[in-house]
Amino acid sequence: MSTPAIEVRGLRREFRASQGLFAPPRRVVAVDDVSFSVPAGSVLGVVGESGCGKTTLARMILGLLEPSGGEVLVDGKRLDGMDRRARARLIQPVFQDPFSSLNPRRRVRDIIAMPLVAQGNVATSEIDRRVAESLERVGLSAEQGTRFPSQLSGGQRQRVAIARALVLRPRIVVCDEPTSALDVSVQAQILNLLAELRRDLGLTYLFISHNLAVVEHVASEVAVMYLGRIVERRESEALFRDPRHPYTRALLDSVLTPEPGLGVPDVGLGDIMPDPANIPPGCRFHPRCPACFAPCATTAPRITSLEDGLVECHLAG
Ligand code: SF4
Repeated sequence: MSTPAIEVRGLRREFRASQGLFAPPRRVVAVDDVSFSVPAGSVLGVVGESGCGKTTLARMILGLLEPSGGEVLVDGKRLDGMDRRARARLIQPVFQDPFSSLNPRRRVRDIIAMPLVAQGNVATSEIDRRVAESLERVGLSAEQGTRFPSQLSGGQRQRVAIARALVLRPRIVVCDEPTSALDVSVQAQILNLLAELRRDLGLTYLFISHNLAVVEHVASEVAVMYLGRIVERRESEALFRDPRHPYTRALLDSVLTPEPGLGVPDVGLGDIMPDPANIPPGCRFHPRCPACFAPCATTAPRITSLEDGLVECHLAG
């Protein structure tokens, strides 16, 4: 079997959350023993409600947050301990908000050049050539490269963020809600651009979103996260046709809003909100699960392998 483009093994992240002056800090497990691998040229969609750990997972993979345990490998090479510049050549981010992720005082071409400049050993002529190539790849003109971000539309700014991610020709792009801040009409253009770039450049995406319709459109495989764990990971078509975990079924039945900032989508599971500082015993989903039965409250389910993926539920067999 060929080496996956990216492999995550047992990744874990704990925080200490203050409870005030006189109480000891609480332990919050944001990501708990998450493992997966993504073949080159594929897209793994990661979905779940706010606070499920998907952004913490992305930040650890990008090296923006130190894991409490586990490891990330790109093309079989471990990223922990790797030089920051070498890591940047392998993996790059595209974040949700192109309004805040671009420096408003720099011109577009200088923003795109920054990852190359940070490498420290690239000739100016090569930087100019690669910036021009990246602008063209994302459908921006040389003239737009001379503007400031405030002189561009939201969709054009996200194209700049994508061009900046591509300029080092990375293997992996982590897209964290890349279309959530955009108008619906622009979202489709950015998704089509990402699909085209993946095909042309052989990129591998980790695509994080709360919007299931978007994930269904782009992902070859989907991981559903709940309270820090992947509870179902399946081939995309199979997951949307026949979800096997009760939480995935609830997500698919819900009406998920594509608008950012409108809070947790109503997944129709009542008022009990998942709290990473207070993870229930047994199956962590059991207080909200419509299919809960006696063992669920005391015994954590094992991961069950299916033909097309994995499910963590006592009923999965
Ligand atoms: Fe529901 Fe039990 Fe399955 Fe957990 S293990 S998802 S509580 S049926």
